[in-house]
Amino acid sequence: MEIVRTISDMKLLRRRLTKPVGFVPTMGFLHEGHLSLVRRARSENSRVIVSIFVNPTQFGPNEDFETYPRDTERDLALLKQENTDVVFMPEPEEIYPPGAGTWVEVEGMTEILEGISRPGHFRGVATVVTKLFNITEPTYAYFGQKDAQQARVIQKMIEDLFMNLEIIVCSTVREPDGLAMSSRNIYLEGKERKAAPILYKSLQSAQSLWNRGERHAGKIRGEIVSLIESEPLAHIDYVSIADTETLQEIEDEIGYKALLSMAVKVGKPRLLDSIVLGGSA
Ligand code: AMP
Repeated sequence: MEIVRTISDMKLLRRRLTKPVGFVPTMGFLHEGHLSLVRRARSENSRVIVSIFVNPTQFGPNEDFETYPRDTERDLALLKQENTDVVFMPEPEEIYPPGAGTWVEVEGMTEILEGISRPGHFRGVATVVTKLFNITEPTYAYFGQKDAQQARVIQKMIEDLFMNLEIIVCSTVREPDGLAMSSRNIYLEGKERKAAPILYKSLQSAQSLWNRGERHAGKIRGEIVSLIESEPLAHIDYVSIADTETLQEIEDEIGYKALLSMAVKVGKPRLLDSIVLGGSA
């Protein structure tokens, strides 16, 4: 496994890699969710590149950039076990040298949902992902369904900018009690950790309403909201039922599928989860 820290070394090394090349961008502090992406990439590609980069531009001024959990040594050991070929670990100054002034904005689907609580977040994500794609030139790039809006924004960016790669969206990996794995779960304290599976429970109850034939978005949303509100430690930021392509909110009858996504604060951390009603992930 090669560890590369500069863009010039990464580009040189990339020239030697046989295609297809799979790429998994991460912010490190790896868990089984990340590793499921790496395994999928491993099984579908000749070479696998994983990046570890806590991207400063996707954090708001009052967010946790400085304290975001980091454990590089452990991450590298895990990636080695998964037969990763290359780990790209640049410093922020490498990706954002003085004077860098170009940004990628995906309009229409970034001002809603996560974009309301986190203005500028997707501009940071789209920009860093573009830079990482340009540096690593992957054939396939792997993203998690857990961050459903992010995956959709990246897909739209690739379509709009005619980028030469394909995005693969992988299903959410969960703890045994249903909590979606996340690096930020370590912020959950005892009681909060116990309360956190309420997100998944509410998704399951929406799924069973759907399975029984319920198609009215407002009805399903209402059930979820009251279930989450029954948990005193949980505070809803949003519960959304939206078109899977445009992410625009559906108010009445759902067609054949919809993205059900939510952000809920449980204590300090703000947790995200989602499923596709009528879909597979
Ligand atoms: P992050 O390090 O949080 O930026 O995540 C890197 C990638 O891993 C993103 O594409 C996430 O959507 C994905 N990911 C994070 N958590 C999970 C999970 N529990 N299951 C599947 N993918 C995940």
